[in-house]
Amino acid sequence: MIYDVLIVGGGPIGIACALEAKKKNLSYIIVEKGALVNSLYNYPNKMTFFSTSEKLELDDIPFVSNNPKPTKQEALEYYRRIVESKQIHINLFEKVERVEKNDKLFEVVSSKTTYQTKNIVIATGFYDIPNYLNIPGEEMDKVTHYYDDPHYYATQKVVVVGASNSSVDAALETYRKGADVTMIVRGEQIGERVKYWVRPDIINRIKEGSIKAYFNAELTEVEKDQIKFKDEEGNIQSLDNDFVLALTGYRPNFEFLESLGIKLSEDQLSIPEYNQQTMKTNVDGIYLAGVICGGMETHKWFIENSRIHAKMIMEDINA
Ligand SMILES: Cc1cc2nc3c(=O)[nH]c(=O)nc-3n(C[C@H](O)[C@H](O)[C@H](O)COP(=O)(O)OP(=O)(O)OC[C@H]3O[C@@H](n4cnc5c(N)ncnc54)[C@H](O)[C@@H]3O)c2cc1C
Repeated sequence: MIYDVLIVGGGPIGIACALEAKKKNLSYIIVEKGALVNSLYNYPNKMTFFSTSEKLELDDIPFVSNNPKPTKQEALEYYRRIVESKQIHINLFEKVERVEKNDKLFEVVSSKTTYQTKNIVIATGFYDIPNYLNIPGEEMDKVTHYYDDPHYYATQKVVVVGASNSSVDAALETYRKGADVTMIVRGEQIGERVKYWVRPDIINRIKEGSIKAYFNAELTEVEKDQIKFKDEEGNIQSLDNDFVLALTGYRPNFEFLESLGIKLSEDQLSIPEYNQQTMKTNVDGIYLAGVICGGMETHKWFIENSRIHAKMIMEDINA
């Protein structure tokens, strides 16, 4: 079988691409290395999206949620029902490992098989590779880059690194489940992109001293029962500690993009090269969709504003 298009990644945008390919009668397959919408599945258990549900809809299929902003469980259910009811072709738990160009076709080698396809869409997101701190002790079991559920941290001394949405949610949730929370923040304040209805909450918890926070500070070392950090005066301080939630963001798999021949900008943003009308990269037949388009600017594209990539790509392939 030779596919018209193989979609790497079964996140919301990979699924949007499949819906669009189907509408254009293109033969397609999604290859996803984990569970269906794997990134969303791994988001914190109690998270609520900042978008209202209609902004997360694909192909105008109604997304009904109990509140204006849906929960993770509602989103998982929504995308699962789309895949089921539209009979989307998707192979799960199968990682795309490399791609070779063979005459006019691509050979896509996965952990299970090899596919032949005329075109490829890379919709691999950014959630698989954390921005590591590269400090001693980071490899210890007590350090995580993926926060899940607050109950686990009840009564424990928790350090949260960062001041973005993920860090703030984790700090507030664990504090409310009885953890003793300290935030270590590289900047001088809580992130400006933190959800407008959450930001006052964290600022007030810090003001009243319920959550401790050190700004202009940097975690420098993790030890078994302690952490060390550099404070704003440049002094090294120690704190007793049980767990570290290092929520310092994630980055796309640039090595994978480069292995396909996709050029990246040479600045520190590593923005992949693509045509903004068609989403086609500098490699003929390879397209980008979703959050991956932003390189290190991982906040630039999200479900709301990158759903449209699917239509642009399939129109170009079908032209
Ligand atoms: C806590 C949190 C809250 C958010 N809230 C919102 C919101 O309210 N509104 C909004 O619009 N956006 C939100 N976002 C951002 C949004 O979730 C992402 O932008 C979105 O998931 C992007 O979709 P995607 O399909 O491009 O990538 P992803 O959803 O990351 O999907 C990529 C998929 O590719 C798979 N994959 C990766 N490499 C391979 C490989 N080699 N082979 C096979 N499969 C592979 C991954 O397993 C993954 O399933 C939020 C993000 C976070 C972290």
